[in-house]
Amino acid sequence: MKAFNIENLVRKNILELQPYVSFRDVSKFENPVFLDANESPFGELNRYPDSTQKKLKEKLSVLKNISSDQIAVGNGSDELIDLIIKVFCEPKKDSILMMNPSFAMYGFYASVNDNQVLQLKLNENFEISKDDFLNISEEQNPKVFFLCSPNNPTGNLVEDIEFYIQNFKGIVVVDEAYIEFSGKQSSISLLEKYSDLIVLQTFSKAWGMAGARVGAAYSSKEIIALINTVKAPYNVNSLSLNKIIELIDQKDIIEENIKNTLKEISWLSNELQRVKCVQKVYPSDANFFLTEFKDVEKIYELLLANEILTSKRSPKIPGCLRINVGNREENIQLIELLKSIE
Ligand SMILES: *Cc1c(COP(=O)(O)O)cnc(C)c1O
Repeated sequence: MKAFNIENLVRKNILELQPYVSFRDVSKFENPVFLDANESPFGELNRYPDSTQKKLKEKLSVLKNISSDQIAVGNGSDELIDLIIKVFCEPKKDSILMMNPSFAMYGFYASVNDNQVLQLKLNENFEISKDDFLNISEEQNPKVFFLCSPNNPTGNLVEDIEFYIQNFKGIVVVDEAYIEFSGKQSSISLLEKYSDLIVLQTFSKAWGMAGARVGAAYSSKEIIALINTVKAPYNVNSLSLNKIIELIDQKDIIEENIKNTLKEISWLSNELQRVKCVQKVYPSDANFFLTEFKDVEKIYELLLANEILTSKRSPKIPGCLRINVGNREENIQLIELLKSIE
C-alpha cells in the first residue's frame, strides 16, 4: 500500500464544504406526496432526477465488481475531469500534468480553473519518458496526472501504469474512454491497491451513447465522496440515466456492436495500409487510427470537399489525420476516395 493522506491533496475549501443533499434521494418512502421541490404535478419529466444516481450505480457496481460508494456519475467523463481538477487544484497555484499529444480537455478544464498545464512530451512511438516524468514531478509537483490509455489521438496503451501511480505524489487519473476496444483489463482492478487512483470511463464511445452525456469515475470512497460534494446535484438528467440503465440490461447488444467494430477496425487498418497516399497507419487499441499522409493538407481538404470529416492533427503530429472507424459503407467511401488519388 502506498501511503496516502488525502487531506494534504484536497483544496481546503472543498474539504470544509458541506454537500448539497436532496432529502428525498437519501430517504425511503412508501407512497410520497412531493411538495418539497416546487415541481409541477403534471407531465412526464416533472420530477428532478435522482441526485445520487442510485440505480445506475447499482448496475455499474455489478458490472464492474466494485462498491457503489466507489462510483461517481458525471455529465460525460468531461464533467468528471473538470470536477477532479476542482477538488484537488487550487486556482492560480496548482498544476496538472498530461501527456502530449493527448486529450485536449485536461488542459482545457485546467485552464478554465486557472491551473497551469504541464506537458510530458511523448517519444516517436508515443511513449512517456519515465525520466521526464520523474523530473517534472519532482521539480514542479503537479497535483493531478492525467494518463489516457488507450491514448487519444495516438491510439496506443500506456504501459506500466503502476510505475506512475507509485512515483507520483498527487492523484493519478487513468482515462479509459476506449478501453472496451483494447481487450485489456481496466485499471479499476488497481483500486484495491491504490486509493489515490481515479479511473474514468464513458458511455460515449463503445457504448454508442455520446448524445446521452454519461461518464463514470471509479476511485476510493473518500475521493468519490469529494467528487459528489462538488458536482451539481442534478448533473445527469433522468432521460439519460434511464437510457443507460436500460442499455446495461441489454449489454449483449453492446458487446455485439463492439465485436463488429473490432472487425471493421482490422478491415480498415488493412485497407488503409494498401492506399498509395498513406505513409503510415499507427497501431491502435482504440476505434480510430492516426494515419500519416504524404500530402496531408491536400488529403484533408479533399476528404472535406467530399464531406468526409476527419480530425487534422498536423502540424502538431506532422502529416497526420486521426480517422475514426465507421460502418462498412462509410469505411468503403473513405477508402474509395483515398484510392482515387494518385
Ligand atoms: C471521447 C473521450 C472522452 C469522453 O468524453 P465524454 O465527456 O464522456 O463524452 C473522454 N476522454 C477521452 C480521452 C476521449 O477521447
